[in-house]
Amino acid sequence: MSRLVIVANRVPNPRDRGATAGGLAVALKDALARREAMWFGWSGHTAEATATTPTLATRGRLTYATLDLGREDYRRYYQGFANASLWPTLHYRLGLSQFSREDYAGYRTVNAAFAVALAPLLRPDDMVWAHDFHVIPLGAELRRQGVRHRLGFFLHVPFPPHALFCALPRGEELIADLAAYDVIGVQTEDDATHLRAGLVAAGHAEAAARVAAFPIGIEAESFTRAAEKAAAGAETARFRQSLVGRTLVMGVDRLDYTKGLPHRFAGYAKLLARFKSHHQQVTYLQVAPVSRGDVAQYRSLRRELDEWAGRINGQYADPDWMPLRYMTRAVARNTLAGFMRLARVGLVTPLRDGMNLVAKEYVAAQNPEDPGVLVLSRFAGAAPQLDGALLLNPLDPDEIAEALDAALTMPLEERVARWRSMEGPVREAGAKAWCRDFLSTLEGSPAAIAA
Ligand code: ADP
Repeated sequence: MSRLVIVANRVPNPRDRGATAGGLAVALKDALARREAMWFGWSGHTAEATATTPTLATRGRLTYATLDLGREDYRRYYQGFANASLWPTLHYRLGLSQFSREDYAGYRTVNAAFAVALAPLLRPDDMVWAHDFHVIPLGAELRRQGVRHRLGFFLHVPFPPHALFCALPRGEELIADLAAYDVIGVQTEDDATHLRAGLVAAGHAEAAARVAAFPIGIEAESFTRAAEKAAAGAETARFRQSLVGRTLVMGVDRLDYTKGLPHRFAGYAKLLARFKSHHQQVTYLQVAPVSRGDVAQYRSLRRELDEWAGRINGQYADPDWMPLRYMTRAVARNTLAGFMRLARVGLVTPLRDGMNLVAKEYVAAQNPEDPGVLVLSRFAGAAPQLDGALLLNPLDPDEIAEALDAALTMPLEERVARWRSMEGPVREAGAKAWCRDFLSTLEGSPAAIAA
């Protein structure tokens, strides 16, 4: 079996295992266990200038090759172009997207530095799999270094319609760079359609056939086991006691403007305003750990949510009932799994999301005898796979309120039927299947470029 080279902005720390491992490391676990592999990317450290040779570390059949980035390069590449230009644009939020030529140049510089450092490490039959919007030009930069290997790319976030993406200056150039890859994976059929049209418009019709949807999944069995175990533990018991018999609605998100949190809070406020039978009966726990706190838009989102939380509890609370519990501290994954099992409603309402793994985790966490209801945004990549959810448009707070009321009053029989229709897809289209499908497509690709 050929060696697999994974390229991602962040490379996991060789010492991080199990519960502390990042999302991508969890998703790739199976693929990495089965063959010799290398992680390549940013070390997580900045220095005066971007390094030219990577630092290598080995753990069994796994090699870690990482590069320190210059402070200025890092700022322009990561905080600048990746997070402030590409992230909002790819999530359909042009109004939040900022562009500067200096940031774009920094993004290209880092991708070129990655390619220059990676090319000499490659062995003849290696396969390279690059991940996400930080490294779109990596394939083209590797080709510039004379690399003729099979190169795959997977975009974890959405890809918007061409007219929207190309409002981003240099958008066409980035699409043309994608044509350097042998397989270009995206999360959904909609994303694939958009990207194919983009490639055609950018004059790379030949690459359109290399685009395919590979919806990412979770390790459902292990999540279910974690949920069962945690639900029987002391932490969940304490939490359950604090609910004093009230029904739990739960949301778990990074504090990000794509997650629709202000709209969600507005929807919950509408529920309390319109459906008074839920007063005293419902508790909504929102866990939203702060992310990218160094970006202004994230700081203002946090203020907005603080206001919402204060307003909702101020207006509706009783001395013995707090309708909303909102926390921005991180909570351990296993603890969350136990809480999800306790929740009658999983509230997942991103304005736009590549996939949204929380939705799948919520399904996996449920007790088959008494499952909860998933309330899910139509604009999550997971929506086409999870049609047993109550699907809604998260921009309409009344729709959120109505879906919450329907979920909170749904009879057991309907909850079971809806959950059963989602449980299969969550289990079968898991992380393992995702890796296997992508890698077998890459292995079997005609290697038009590699030839
Ligand atoms: P994104 O990748 O945009 O953050 P996803 O829903 O696809 O969104 O994946 C988020 C992952 O991070 C999930 O596995 C989820 O369990 C985890 N996660 C999200 N919020 C928290 C939190 N508050 N504490 C711990 N883990 C979290």
